[in-house]
Amino acid sequence: MDQIRPLAPPFPSRLPAVGTTVFTVMSALAAKHQAINLGQGFPDFPCDRELISHVNAAMLADHNQYPPMTGIADLRQGIAQKIYELYGYQYNPDTEITITAGGTQGIMTTILSCVSPGDEVVIIEPAYDSYRPSVELACGKIVAVPLIAKRDNQGGVCSYLIPWTELANSINAKTRLIIINTPHNPTGMVWKASDLDRLADLVRGTNALLLSDEVYEHMVFDGINHVSIASHPELAARSFLISSFGKTYHVTGWKVGYVAAPEKMMQEFRKVHQFNVFTVNTPMQFGLAEYLKNADHYLGLASFYQAKRDYFSRGLKETGFKLLPAPASYFQCVNYTELNIPQAKMSEADFCFWLTAEIGVAAIPVSAFYAQPVESGVIRFCFAKKEETLSTALKRLQTL
Ligand code: GLN
Repeated sequence: MDQIRPLAPPFPSRLPAVGTTVFTVMSALAAKHQAINLGQGFPDFPCDRELISHVNAAMLADHNQYPPMTGIADLRQGIAQKIYELYGYQYNPDTEITITAGGTQGIMTTILSCVSPGDEVVIIEPAYDSYRPSVELACGKIVAVPLIAKRDNQGGVCSYLIPWTELANSINAKTRLIIINTPHNPTGMVWKASDLDRLADLVRGTNALLLSDEVYEHMVFDGINHVSIASHPELAARSFLISSFGKTYHVTGWKVGYVAAPEKMMQEFRKVHQFNVFTVNTPMQFGLAEYLKNADHYLGLASFYQAKRDYFSRGLKETGFKLLPAPASYFQCVNYTELNIPQAKMSEADFCFWLTAEIGVAAIPVSAFYAQPVESGVIRFCFAKKEETLSTALKRLQTL
């Protein structure tokens, strides 16, 4: 009980500004208060049984030892073919695609493979919270530029715009990497083909590489098509493309994703990857390779999630929340500052704590996507949930 421990040596943090990720904090709080968890982005419905039976079959067929370091050939081939058919860029599955333990590991490994101390990395805020610490561990320097929120006559956000002038000003001889994220977490903003052309104008003649985080690639709504970096050969030639099976096939807990990049870049990526995770679990890769053969499994995702977005946003319109555009991803952002309650004046984080504990619905403060929290009175709900979950959450939110 009263064991006396010798003192540990001093342990200066490599990430002094970092605590536990907001997604973990909010999920734990939701569990503590038995709240409906619309915070962390993950589905609450089961994945397809067919996918599970492919994995089971792979285990029973004794595919249980290390796979190749880069991932099993069948899965890499399936990914190369999918990217080619959808976006037109031909990656060599042997030398240009690597299976990762989810998108977040792909992001960290990409950054460690190309950012050296003092290199600058441009991110567009709000930004997924893993980008910044990954750059800090590589001793790179973050240059953050803010997304522009365009407002309508009533002052509500009607769309988000890429900050072209600031982006142009942020790129210089020290820029090693620019991170883009389309569809964007948390706003759902998507890059258009003309945006990629404009980005190409900015990076042409520089040494800047790109990391394109496209884990929500199959969740783009209202008839709009996802524009991948792989649809722009000039940019693809200097890009790491990242995606995730967890998001696409409702299996976030399996932690399987991939990175595609031109051979020279992928060689460096693999040098880090092999000593980071070495490989990613074998039976899941076999199961995913089989399941990927049927394109309907990912092509149907946009209409599936659009129906959920529409159901959820219809219900939210009966609350005092102001809805922000939700053109893609499985997130709906709302502004709470016009609710007729004292809590409308709270910070985003405090509002989310209160909403979880007192109203029984967890959300994510968008301020968590900034290094220096920017308070815009906006929180993020995840609508990747069963209709009954959304319906119960809506009943609670409609009291506001
Ligand atoms: N990408 C997910 C989100 O934004 C969560 C990922 C995580 O929890 N690491 O909610």
